[in-house]
This record gives sequence, structure tokens and C-alpha cells, in this order.
Amino acid sequence: MYSGHGSKNSKGRERKTTLFEFLLPKDIYTHVSARVDIWLWVFERCLRPLWVVALFSTVGPITEQAVISFLEFLFGSSPELESNFFWMLLYALMSLLCYDFIFFIIHYAMHKIPVLWAIHKVHHSAEVLTPLTRSREHFLAGPIWAGGSAFSFAFAAGIFAYLFNGGITQATILGAGFFSFIFGLTGAFRHYHVQFHYPHWLSQWIQSPAMHHTHHSYLKKHWDTNMAAVTSIYDRMFGTLYIPEKDEYTPWGIGPQTQHEYRSFWQNTVGPFRDWHRMINKGDSPQAGALSIAEEEKRNQNITDVPL
Ligand SMILES: [Zn+2]
Ligand SMILES: [Zn+2]
Repeated sequence: MYSGHGSKNSKGRERKTTLFEFLLPKDIYTHVSARVDIWLWVFERCLRPLWVVALFSTVGPITEQAVISFLEFLFGSSPELESNFFWMLLYALMSLLCYDFIFFIIHYAMHKIPVLWAIHKVHHSAEVLTPLTRSREHFLAGPIWAGGSAFSFAFAAGIFAYLFNGGITQATILGAGFFSFIFGLTGAFRHYHVQFHYPHWLSQWIQSPAMHHTHHSYLKKHWDTNMAAVTSIYDRMFGTLYIPEKDEYTPWGIGPQTQHEYRSFWQNTVGPFRDWHRMINKGDSPQAGALSIAEEEKRNQNITDVPL
């Protein structure tokens, strides 16, 4: 930041700039994609309470009870361990790892299964990254993520409720799980155009915000990588980890072949339905066309060749 480096422009390319432009670049915040972020965010926020209340009050307790009953079936009644701060910290950590795993599985499925990709594509149709892009989702994605969260937290809660006969709470900061709070701070920067790049060894354990920049890139080498929310553990296990170089070029979006179909709020809202219709009637797959570096360079060459 001191030297004016580390901020990307709307093309996903690092450039040196003045402080104001560094923090709030005009080309990003006036981009049509940033405007669509706002409307998708408003729409999604209006519906989110419905999913959260409905799924956390059903999936949550059912999962927790099922885990407790299963453990009782396997090992008998609760060992009624005594809770202390170490256990509370462990509970907070297990909760986060459990959440990250379920997040990874859902996200992986959304990338690999065409029917689900049609929904998740809306998140990836963002051509620039702004903090609101975090909530840029199709309204049908809301219940999927909320159901996954409810399941993962209840799964960890069930195990610890069994071990401590219900007598344990997580170690928290401001009401959030200790580790969720710490990692949540960095997660907030995943969709900011400024790169927060970690050393290579740390990126092998925790997703740096810069690693999510590559997740949003339509280059083939970046496509379908870095799917977890917090740690790099599951991406390593499933071979989807990609640690970018500092200032790596990351053109954002779903690729030039289909990007024009996902520019407005309306296009993004009807997008999945149109894709499903095409899949049923024409057998089309909604997978977007990622480009190789050579194709992207050729495309940029052609763009600059056009006389102004
Ligand atoms: Zn994704
Ligand atoms: Zn994202």
C-alpha cells in the first residue's frame, strides 16, 4: 500500500496508483458488475432471513439429535466430560473445520455439477470484485448455503453435546466462534480488489484473500480451484489448491464467450432457468468457457488493436 502497489484494476491486473484510487478505484466501483452486486445483494438479503430461520430451526436440531443418538447407539450414554477453556477452544476449531468441509463439498458440487453450476454461475459472473460480491448469489443459492451451514454447525454441536452431555459452549469473541471470528476478518477481504497475499507456507494451510481472486478468474489454470472458505486443507486433499504468485493476473468473470448473458440484474436472476431450459431442450451444458493464457493474450491483443 505504501508504494501504491497491490491493488488490481477492473481487468484483474495489478497497477500502481494513488491512495484514493488504490482504495476506491473508479473503474471498479462504476462498473456495471458492481451495480448488479448491489441489487443482487438487496434481493438476497430480503430472502435470507426466511432460509436461515426455516433451515436453522429444522436441519439444525434434527442433525444434532441424529448425531447424539448415533453416538449413544455406538458408545452408550454420554461420558459427561468436564468442560474447560481448552475444550471450548477445540469445539470452536472443530466447528470451523466442519463448516469449511461442508462449504468445500457444496462449492465443489456447484462447480462440477452443471445443474448446480447454473446457480453458482451468478456469483462468478462478477467482472470486478467489491465487498458486496461476497453476497452476490442467485436467490436459489441461499437455501443451499444456509442448509449446509446449519448441518455443519449442528454436526459439531452434536458430537460435543454428546461428550459433555450438553454442558459446553464454544470459546467466542463477540458472540462468534473464536476461530470463525479470526478467520472471518480475512474472509471479508476475499472480494476486495486489493490483494492480501500470504507467504507460500501459510497459504498451504489458510486461504489468503488473493487465493479467492484466482477462484474468480476465468483462466483455465485458475478454473475450479480454491473452493474452501477458510483453510487450504480440503483443497490440498482434493487437488484443487492453487497458490498464485504475488500480483498474478486474474481476469474476473465467467469468460468472454458467455459473459454478455450475465450483465444485468435480470439476466442474472433468470440465468439458471434459461440454462436449465437449454440443458433439457438442447442438451447444452452451462459450463462456462475458461480461456488458456495464450487465448486470453490473443484476445487482449485484439482488443487493443481496435482503433479508438
Ligand atoms: Zn465458486
Ligand atoms: Zn467469491
